[in-house]
Amino acid sequence: MEKTAAIHHSDWHAREQGKLRIGGYSPEQVCAIAGGTPCYVYDRAAISARVEQLRAALPPALELHYAIKANPMAAVVQHLATLVDGLDVASQRELQIALATGVAPGDISFAGPGKSDADITAAVAAGITLMAESLAQVDAAIDAAECLGIAPRIALRVNPAFELKASGMKMTGGAKPFGIDSEQLPQVIDHCRQRGVEPCGLHLFTGSQNLNPEAICEAHSAVTALALELIDAEQLQLQFINIGGGLGIPYFPGEQPLQLAPIGVNLDRLQQQVAARCDASLVLEMGRYLVGEAGLYLCRVREIKQSRGTTYLVVDGGLHQHLANSGNFGQVIRKNYPVELVGGSPQQPTQVTVVGPLCTPLDIVADKVTLPKACVGDLVVVRQSGAYGFTASPRDFLGHPHPCELLL
Ligand SMILES: *Cc1c(COP(=O)(O)O)cnc(C)c1O
Repeated sequence: MEKTAAIHHSDWHAREQGKLRIGGYSPEQVCAIAGGTPCYVYDRAAISARVEQLRAALPPALELHYAIKANPMAAVVQHLATLVDGLDVASQRELQIALATGVAPGDISFAGPGKSDADITAAVAAGITLMAESLAQVDAAIDAAECLGIAPRIALRVNPAFELKASGMKMTGGAKPFGIDSEQLPQVIDHCRQRGVEPCGLHLFTGSQNLNPEAICEAHSAVTALALELIDAEQLQLQFINIGGGLGIPYFPGEQPLQLAPIGVNLDRLQQQVAARCDASLVLEMGRYLVGEAGLYLCRVREIKQSRGTTYLVVDGGLHQHLANSGNFGQVIRKNYPVELVGGSPQQPTQVTVVGPLCTPLDIVADKVTLPKACVGDLVVVRQSGAYGFTASPRDFLGHPHPCELLL
């Protein structure tokens, strides 16, 4: 069966007479600015528009955080720092990038299992919120704070007993390396208090890349209810309840952009429930949803090859620079990201398979797609490439030069 490259998602980039523009530039101009192909380009206006769309759909009191691992390019994080209410980091390097934006340390949080003593000391020293994923992390944070002579900001990440349905990646329910099992939480809270520390927040991250609004609403409702239960049972004095995100973007044929309206209505109800019970703010944290659709990966056709009935476009980019697009970053069945050809002859669409320069059958950019008839030198544009692209790829595999990243 033929797979089409039709655009099945909302188009966040500007078009002039149907032609793609990024920050006012054509794809060829972008490649020239980058000094050649392959390159990643992120569209500043598309990121701003996405945040604006979210703010319009969600209750005004809800706080939006950016989980910077989705795209930690310093310029992207700097731009988002002016649009969101906080940043979430997952390493010391990300912490340094977040602090450099000027966002208040109190609005930065650090999550992740297996934090080193150095990670925890850096977080405590910076005055950011440590999302403790275990009793050991709680103790390490309090020890570090005692050494530094300051008070730590410790929030507890909870692993609820339920999971988020229809999620690309499940992060809670049953046994998990993330968070503290909800039934162990009372002991951990007691332990914090014995050491003179009151937890400042709860973090309940249920999953990622979810395109089902009912499932997202159900998860948001369930984790908020659990947080409120814990607040009551443990008399917690929280500054925030971070209920994760889970919002997905459409990548593959048949997927539709997420309907935000029902999620906004539900969050409005939850926000009011929380406000009626305590002073904690409700926080939604997202990576992919804020930047995924704002990024493009551009590569150039080097060679056109016929092999036993298949036309291959051999391009200068591939798996080593965009692992997720090759289908090797958590996908069970490989599907094509949306791709476009810049150049070519629209009158003569042909079915082609776009492959990269690596000597492995895994290096597929787009399998059996119909594109305008290509010439050597045309550009292949991979859309939906703003999240988990550049930094989530094995860029040294085979030793090719790294691609340039631009924010325009
Ligand atoms: C990765 C991660 C996110 C971002 O997930 P997306 O699917 O990119 O929105 C948010 N919070 C935590 C704790 C994460 O680990």
